[in-house]
Amino acid sequence: MNCFYISGYGRSGSTVLDTLLTNFDGLEGIGEATNLFDCIHNNEYCSCGEPILECEYWKPFFKEYNGKINKLAIETRKYEGLRGLFKKSYNSIYDQFWTNYFKSNSNVDIVDSSKISRKTFMRPIIFKRLGVNVTIVHLYKNSDLLLQSLLKGSNKDLNKGVKVEGIPHIFLLRSFVGAFFANLFTCLIGRFFSNGYKFIEYEEIVVDCDTFLVNHFGLNSSLVDLENLNCGHGVSGNRVRKKSKSISLRKSNGNISLTLPIFYKYLFRVLVIFKPSKPIIE
Ligand SMILES: [Zn+2]
Repeated sequence: MNCFYISGYGRSGSTVLDTLLTNFDGLEGIGEATNLFDCIHNNEYCSCGEPILECEYWKPFFKEYNGKINKLAIETRKYEGLRGLFKKSYNSIYDQFWTNYFKSNSNVDIVDSSKISRKTFMRPIIFKRLGVNVTIVHLYKNSDLLLQSLLKGSNKDLNKGVKVEGIPHIFLLRSFVGAFFANLFTCLIGRFFSNGYKFIEYEEIVVDCDTFLVNHFGLNSSLVDLENLNCGHGVSGNRVRKKSKSISLRKSNGNISLTLPIFYKYLFRVLVIFKPSKPIIE
């Protein structure tokens, strides 16, 4: 049982990477699977376009949990983090679900892009305890590009009617703290708790996808259509996927198109300390 756990901070391109990999035989991208039970509870859409309760891929796995999903959704929100270690009844049902899932998928490698947050930082460690071979994929976005994604995201909120004048200071400061700890924990989990650690820069994927695939995963890009990637059966939290059933990798170029506030530009550059001085490919 192998799992590529896409770790690091949100808005770093995890959906792009997850979607890219799921297009190859032998790899299955399951999106932000930490939200799976929530997603089932609210019957949200799978990235295949079906409501998750109708999705042929997920249906068989939660059939036997009928009536327990609501409880699992609430408890995952509460206990998936550190508290889960002390909550045995929750652990057993959560462990049972994922053990069963990984066993049924022993012929493929799973790509889970739940990343690292207060809620999910134990997830790769739990998987490892369940006997899954976990590779931590540390996805890192250049600080200027990350800041640009955050500002674009907050502009979207603005369009929804949330009026923000000037620079959204609180949002950016909170994002910085979030990014700092997500990268810190990814380094710690990746280096000390896992056998496998890969450091990937978002730019590598969008600038030269062909080379990226060969170098990091030994995959041949000519086997898939990079302009029309199938979105697979990913779970929630994926903005790109919600818009359409396929995405193109040839269109994205990773360029800066916004004027970035100078203070934040330098503050976010602190994140570079998490970037290894020489490339790590294991
Ligand atoms: Zn689906």
